[in-house]
Formats: sequence, structure tokens, C-alpha cells
Amino acid sequence: MKLTGHLFIGAENAEGTEGTMKALNPATNQLIEPDFALGGAAEVDRAATLADQAFDDYSHTSLARRAAFLESIADNLDAVRTELAARAALETGLPEAQLEGEAAKAATQFRQFAEVVRKGRFLQLAVDPAQPDRQPRPRMDHRLQKIAIGPVAIFGASNFPIAYSVAGGDTASALAAGATVILKAHNAHPGASEIQARAIRKAVQDYGLPEGVFSMVRGSGNAIGEALVDHPKVQAVTFTGSERGGMALYRRAQLRPDPIPVFTEMTSINPTFVLPEAQATRGAQIGDGFVERMLVNVGQACLKPALLIAIEGPGFKALRAAMVKRVAEAPARAMLAPGIHASYLNGLVALEDAGAQRLAEGSAASGSFDGQSALLEVDGQRFLADTALAQEVFGPAALLVKVRDEAEMLAVARSLKGQLSAAMHLEEGDTPLAHRLLPILERRTGRIVVNAFAHPQEVTFATVHGGPFPATSDSRFTSVGMTSIERFLRPVAYQGFPDALLPEPLRHGNPLGLPRSVDGQ
Ligand code: NAP
Repeated sequence: MKLTGHLFIGAENAEGTEGTMKALNPATNQLIEPDFALGGAAEVDRAATLADQAFDDYSHTSLARRAAFLESIADNLDAVRTELAARAALETGLPEAQLEGEAAKAATQFRQFAEVVRKGRFLQLAVDPAQPDRQPRPRMDHRLQKIAIGPVAIFGASNFPIAYSVAGGDTASALAAGATVILKAHNAHPGASEIQARAIRKAVQDYGLPEGVFSMVRGSGNAIGEALVDHPKVQAVTFTGSERGGMALYRRAQLRPDPIPVFTEMTSINPTFVLPEAQATRGAQIGDGFVERMLVNVGQACLKPALLIAIEGPGFKALRAAMVKRVAEAPARAMLAPGIHASYLNGLVALEDAGAQRLAEGSAASGSFDGQSALLEVDGQRFLADTALAQEVFGPAALLVKVRDEAEMLAVARSLKGQLSAAMHLEEGDTPLAHRLLPILERRTGRIVVNAFAHPQEVTFATVHGGPFPATSDSRFTSVGMTSIERFLRPVAYQGFPDALLPEPLRHGNPLGLPRSVDGQ
């Protein structure tokens, strides 16, 4: 496929009004052809206007048609999987085979959401029939369904250039909900973004849907993101990235004349607690497994386990030695982008300034943006004294927190801010301590894993990829998994409606055969 570098404003291939950029290969520090157009407020306005015009039509598509449309996006992604992975590998430095897997996962997510749409449970239909004889006054007929929130702006993530980018879970769940989408492509992988956008636009056209169902914009600097969040037609925003960027956009959206929800997924150190019996019996295995997961994607993953808390007691030396060995053996690999590489180096310095000691380093970097792996250590008292030690360092680094006893382990747990995930490694004899740790973790995380790590991420109905601030800006929702669709829905009640005027899913006799609660049953 020849990349043209256009912005996709509905059906239009737009040149953009803010100049051009090229992609960078972070492994070679070479620019890659072609030029990619940059846009600004003008392009956002056209895309948002089209998204608004398309909304009534698209949000009222039948469930069967919408599901088929989502499946056709999946088919289109499958058809370009090899070239998509190859281009994404050039732009990110991530291995091509891994990116083929990511492309397959993206297609699977669209198919999973097609099933969600077909089954209709996401509509959360509720029917409370009229009670004309009720005393002291009759009750009217009440019916509820969830409808799409409106056009949504999605900020593609940098670190998973397919499964959480243009054709990622946010886009799949928003389109499944019936929302129209304006995607802000991440500048770290513009070519991969274009290939994905083409796959989505082809399905829009093949299904005869209005062109504004999907647009993709790109810009440089904050102006384009700000224009998206400010646009009066945009009704919700999703974002994956830094806490600084996420909170700037969140606050901006609250200052609009009509504030809108902004679902940000920002930062997490995913603490791993090694309980004493597990440490004594398999400390080395846990330490080795932890570093293996920490190094996935050169440590550029929201679920990277970055903090390991262990008691200085039986098994500790073996655990630490295994971590040191694994980090020392790790080759330096290209990070996603120069800015992310620079933040990684700064993050390591900040940990050391706060008192962490370097225990081990991987092989030295040879490329300009290679991330050298690092393992740091600090004792529990020092960790508790300085919140800088609990900051995410996005990249192949982890901090080992050596605590004196169970009480200090619990104190470290209590000191933590909101997380996407936490893990406990335990044996049967650790159950009493796990019972004390569990409520502390429940208040601070969206997911708790036993004897494993949150990576790799499954996409299921029970997946939670969310958590209290600063992991996200809204702990009530997940950004991954089938219930992530709920971010894009809102309830509407229909009261006293004649049958012919009711939305089809709510009509008498349940003509679509969808799951509905009747009087709460
Ligand atoms: P980012 O800098 O927060 O940028 C994410 C997206 O938001 C980009 O499209 C960016 O546009 C836009 N943006 C950021 N701040 C904005 C603002 N104030 N106004 C308008 N638009 C704004 O994240 P990133 O580029 O993906 O990576 C940078 C850092 O984010 C990493 O080093 C890491 O610390 C963190 N990160 C965390 C996760 C996680 O899951 N925990 C994932 C990815 C990144 P521009 O590119 O044009 O600035």
C-alpha cells in the first residue's frame, strides 16, 4: 500500500494546514518517507462537524448492521496485517512478529465488540410496565435503554501502535456503542496510523455509512489536541499517555461551557508484593519472572511491573540475585520516540536523587534512543519518606523495595496512589497476610493478580484496565475489555410511549429478543 500522508477528514484526503512531518525510525535515528500532513483547529472543526452530522444516522444503525460493520473492519485489518506490522516496526523499533500479534489482537477486539453489539446487553434495557391500578396513584410505563454519548475524540496511544492506537480498543468500543470517532493519531507512528485508518474508512464506505463516522487528524504541539477537547460537537474524550498531558486535557474539558467526560489512562507502577512463604520457597523464580515482564515492550507498557516489595528474610537474597542476573543480561533496545527516551533517562536520575541505589544495568546503549535496563533498590523507610520513589519511570527499569517486616510491607502498600494493577505472590501459609493486604490493594487498584503478573493483557468481560487516580481520571470505568463500551453510553428513559414510537429494542413483545429486565427481574 502506498502511503500518502493525508489527514482523513471523513472521505476527504486532506493536505492539512500546518505543514508536514516525517516518521522517525528510533532504532536508526533516520527519517522515513513520506511526508505526513499536519492539521490544526480547521481540520478538527471539519472532522467534528462531519462526526456530528453522521451521529444520528450511525447511532441508529441496527445492531446487526453495526456488528457486521465492525467485523468488516476486522477483516480489513487482517488483510493488511503484514504490511501494518512491518511499518509499525520501522516506526517504533518494536519487533515485527510482536506487532503482527498486536494487529491480530486489534482485529479480534473488533470481532469481540461485534458480538457485544449483537447480543445487545450493553443497551441495559429495562422495562417497568404501567400499573394503571396502583394506589394511591397509577404508575406510567417506563422503559430505559443506553444510547451513544455523541461524537468522541480518541487520542491514540504511543506504546501499542495498533491495539491501543487508531484501530485500538477505544475506537472499537466507541464505534460499537454507536458513537462517531475523531481519532488524534500519535506522531510516533504516522504510517501505521494511516494503514489502520484506511482499513476503517474502507469499511465505512463499503457499508454505505455517513463519511463522518470516522476521521483521523494529526498535528504538532498541543493546539490540535486542545481544539479537539474544546470542540462543542465533541462529547467525550479518551486518552492514553502521560499524567501531565492527560490532566491538562481533563482540566480543559471541565472548563468548557458544557463540561464533558475525559477518560484518561495515565500512570501506574503496578506494585508486586512477595509474601514470605512464597519468597522462601521460590524467591528466585519470582524475581526472574518479574524482570521478564518488566522488560516487555522495552518497559513501555502501562502494566509493566515497576515496583517489587519484599521482606529481607528467607529467600530474599535468591530473589534479588535472580533480578540482578536477568537485568544484567538484558540487551539495550530502541525506545519508541526521542521524547520517551529522554523522559526515561530523567526518571532514572529522579529515582537516584531520591535515594535509590543502582543494583544492576543491562548492556550499554548503542543506538541514540536505546533504553538500557536498570534495577534499583531502596529500603522501606526511605521509600515511605519520599513520594518521588513511587513515580512511574516509563522504560526498562524497576525498583526493589526491601522492607523489614510485614508491618512495613503493609505501610508501603498504604502509601501508594491509584494503580492499574497489583500482584501478590503467595503460598498457603501467606494467607493471613494476604487477607490484610487485600483491602489495602482493593482501594488502590483496578486489578489484583495472584501468583502471576498483569501482563499479558486479556480482553474479556471481566477485564479491568482502570483504577483510582492517577492511574486514570475516572476509576468507575475500564479502558480495556468488553465493558469499556460503557464509557460511551448514557441512559435515556422513555415514559408513557406508544409502541410505534418506542426504539425497537424496547417495544412490547421484545421483537429483537434482547435481554431485558422487567420490573427489575
Ligand atoms: P503524552 O506526551 O501524554 O502524549 C499523548 C498524546 O496526547 C499525544 O498525542 C500528545 O500530542 C497529546 N498531548 C499530550 N499533552 C497534551 C496537551 N497538554 N494538550 C494537547 N495534547 C496533548 O504521552 P506519550 O507521547 O505517549 O508518552 C510520553 C510519556 O507518557 C511517556 O514517557 C510515559 O511516561 C507516559 N505514557 C504512559 C503510558 C501508560 O500507559 N502508563 C502510556 C504511554 C505514555 P503530541 O504528541 O503532539 O504532544
